[in-house]
Amino acid sequence: MENLKTAIDTCYASHLKEIEHLVLQIHDNPELSEEEVLAAQAQADFLETQGFTLDRNYKEIKTAFMASAGEGSPHICFMSEYDALPGIGHGCGHNLIAGVALSAGIILKQLISDCRLKGRVSIMGTPAEEKRGCKIDLIAAGALEDVDVVLMAHPSDHSTSQSMEESGIMQFIIRFTGKTAHAAASPEKGLNALDAVRLLFSGVDAWRQQLPETCRIHGVIKDGGKAPNIIPDSAMADFYLRAFDMDFLMSMKKRFENIAQGAALMTDTKVWVESVKNAYKPGKPNQELNQEFMMLAREYGMEPQWLERSRASSDFGDVTYEVPAMHAFFNITGLNTNIVIHSREFADCAASSFALEQMGKTARILSQIGYMYLSSEDFRKKVMGAFPFKKTRV
Ligand SMILES: [Zn+2]
Repeated sequence: MENLKTAIDTCYASHLKEIEHLVLQIHDNPELSEEEVLAAQAQADFLETQGFTLDRNYKEIKTAFMASAGEGSPHICFMSEYDALPGIGHGCGHNLIAGVALSAGIILKQLISDCRLKGRVSIMGTPAEEKRGCKIDLIAAGALEDVDVVLMAHPSDHSTSQSMEESGIMQFIIRFTGKTAHAAASPEKGLNALDAVRLLFSGVDAWRQQLPETCRIHGVIKDGGKAPNIIPDSAMADFYLRAFDMDFLMSMKKRFENIAQGAALMTDTKVWVESVKNAYKPGKPNQELNQEFMMLAREYGMEPQWLERSRASSDFGDVTYEVPAMHAFFNITGLNTNIVIHSREFADCAASSFALEQMGKTARILSQIGYMYLSSEDFRKKVMGAFPFKKTRV
């Protein structure tokens, strides 16, 4: 095992400069979901120079890519993300996710050839996690059909930790339409769409008391009318619904739609409830992969902690239903509690030398888990045994 560690360290050290340059380049040129043209191209170009076979615009998704090396099975896939947030750049640190995936992939490719391992390693570039969730489109297009295991790691403002159970999410746009009228001269002739939005919020607030503590529902008003002296004939809200159980999330959707209908009835307006992005399933990580990650993170001195489930959501949730998968977390804030994810301060951290160091450790851990998976049938069986859903390949 010591030889393995040395081989991994040597390989990582020989690519360190190029990887860090790439990660900082993505950081300094933030691109929004589905516009990650430069980030996708830079990663694909780099992987091509490292001997990977590239499939750009993977599954006809413009900023997705697939880079692979080796052949047949087992097939282990490292996922990369690289979209930024409006106004705050890489406030979710996805540039570091790319760094982990690329480094781990390059190391494992080297190990496959040095140790004559059977199998394949790939790096899948998955766009738009923050907005539309392209992993779901990639899954629908068959991107995971010949993949056996998926590994990913995300920077965090909490301690380095295992892949947590995450809540599923649905997003809805709700539009009400009514009738304009002069708000003082003839209000009785109008139908007030803003009132319908206000009643929707009231209905949701009343419902909240009866919801389990683990559920979340939160919304904003996107359109509340044009001027105080015009009864608004159109108003719009944007809502997220979250729960840890998919069936319960579906029941929440029904109740939410009924509340919207109720608000329309009370105001004599019309309502449209529109689902605007892929629903994300609640994440169900593989505990065997988690155990391995935590053990290695301790060895690397990252002081990992087993954490409770996360209330956040990711399109990675859907991946965990397809194959055994892990979305671990690595701390980049030095546990400064004033710095939270999705902030400008976190974006600054995502380019710090500490973050790059943590990224490097995490990449080496993921490559080592990949090595174990390819080299040990016993480990593969354990991982598959901990996968609760249907998957025919072993
Ligand atoms: Zn993120």
